[in-house]
Amino acid sequence: MKIGFIGLGNMGGPMAANLAAAGHQVSGFDLTADMPEGVTKVDSASDAAQNKDAVITMLPNGKILSSVAGEIIEVMGKGTAFIDCSTVDVESARTVAEAATAFGLLAVDAPVSGGVGGAAAGTLTFMAGGSEAAFAVAEPLFEIMGQKAVHCGESGAGQAAKICNNMILGITMIGTCEAFALADKLGLDRQKMFDVVSTSSGYSWSMNAYCPAPGVGPDSPSDHGYRPGFAAELMLKDLRLSQQAAEASNADTPLGQHATELYTQFVENEDGNGMDFSAMLPRFEKRGRS
Ligand code: NAD
Repeated sequence: MKIGFIGLGNMGGPMAANLAAAGHQVSGFDLTADMPEGVTKVDSASDAAQNKDAVITMLPNGKILSSVAGEIIEVMGKGTAFIDCSTVDVESARTVAEAATAFGLLAVDAPVSGGVGGAAAGTLTFMAGGSEAAFAVAEPLFEIMGQKAVHCGESGAGQAAKICNNMILGITMIGTCEAFALADKLGLDRQKMFDVVSTSSGYSWSMNAYCPAPGVGPDSPSDHGYRPGFAAELMLKDLRLSQQAAEASNADTPLGQHATELYTQFVENEDGNGMDFSAMLPRFEKRGRS
């Protein structure tokens, strides 16, 4: 396929590289990032979108997505696919999909889970929203960039699944970190704590796959001075999206709200900016009860 790829940063770069390595003709546009091997650089978003079978966007937020969508929808050919893999608010995803559909495009919102490691290895999970026909066109591309794609429902359903997942992730990471900090104060060895919890009812991805305690569990950002990985400010972005959606839909999410407050404090008033989101552990460790 001829594919336009817009936004080739930490995630988009390796995703585009995997599409090119699989034999697709990929044209890339980014304001700053270098093109990965196999991807042809073009000079604008509309150049990336013209005469393509599919366009993939991997951008920082809903505002930028909407602005890029405004540039590309009208130049894309009818019946071609507009696949947005960014994490954005449900409202922007739905509005962009509506505009694209009105122009005869097949629109899919397909945020991902799996981080930069998953993007490079081609093992991302895609959670997709859009029509059956749109998902059918996008699915073979998801198979190259990832290991699993779930069609969650109509437009916006992919973003809804993503923010619910990441609300759980933020909450469980905080829970795991505060439990380690308590265990420290109780004199419990961290390895023993991991050995018990990772095989008991407190287990979670945060404990078992991404343990926030250095030297314990599989290799994770805590073993590298909490260099991200998944940055605390990106977790804050996703938690804020979850609370924005909770407000809009009148959902009661008290732990999601508290997790958002804690990450806001960590990123904006403490030393969390630029750290991995699992650096909540040293944050709790330093503190007492008050
Ligand atoms: P990034 O900042 O590394 O990449 C974004 C890229 O978009 C940058 O290279 C930037 O130059 C480019 N860009 C911005 N505005 C543009 C425009 N108008 N036209 C063209 N290019 C433009 O961010 P990332 O880590 O690759 O994340 C991208 C998206 O994926 C975000 O929505 C993020 O929430 C989501 N995400 C990230 C991770 C992760 O672990 N990094 C995991 C899952 C989802």
